[in-house]
Amino acid sequence: MTNSLYVSSPVNALVQGILREDKTLHQVLGHGDFGLGTFNDLDGEMVLVDGIFYQLRSDGSALIPNLNIGTPYACVTYFNPVKSFDAPKNGSYLDLQRVIAKSMLSNNLIYAIRVEGAFTKIRARSVPKQDAYRPLVDVADDQREFRYERISGQLVGFWTPDFMHSISVPGFHLHFLSADKTHGGHLLELIIEEAKVWLQPLDQLSLDLPHTIEYLHANLDQDNSADLNKAEH
Ligand SMILES: [Zn+2]
Repeated sequence: MTNSLYVSSPVNALVQGILREDKTLHQVLGHGDFGLGTFNDLDGEMVLVDGIFYQLRSDGSALIPNLNIGTPYACVTYFNPVKSFDAPKNGSYLDLQRVIAKSMLSNNLIYAIRVEGAFTKIRARSVPKQDAYRPLVDVADDQREFRYERISGQLVGFWTPDFMHSISVPGFHLHFLSADKTHGGHLLELIIEEAKVWLQPLDQLSLDLPHTIEYLHANLDQDNSADLNKAEH
């Protein structure tokens, strides 16, 4: 079993407003059973758990999307955690990040992260579907936030080294999915009641380069890290 992160398109393209690519969910499923991303036209946040995609819409509700729809950005792997430990009780997102960072062997590998349990508070967000090309940093102003109290569920995502910021979202990037799989979004803040963390170091990267006209003509050489940071964290 390889420990490889598959990225369907460099995140720089998404940051520059290429919100539509030719990769379908069905194709992405060929590269993993666990991960996150978004959908064409930024129609919600994506979570992939146990081989099933969930589309987390701007009202916080989740649905199972058709596998024929496309994604402009998805990161997936086959999840085989090698390490697990308790998340800090009553801890914030920052506390959780510190504990996970401490158990990482190196800052130069990618880590797949799953956190499952009960949360006192979750603050998350998603985006409404966009009907025009817009830089991600402008779309960020449309994001809708929602809060949950005393909710069970899981966080799914990755830690990615900063030097990969043109390919994938750097640092921690987690999406929440409720235990009943009806709600979720891009994680902004939390308070942990009781939860467990599973970690998998990934030491390979598989990057797809799209062939859409927009992608082929984009200038992806710019450093978009400031915009990416604003839009994704
Ligand atoms: Zn996200």
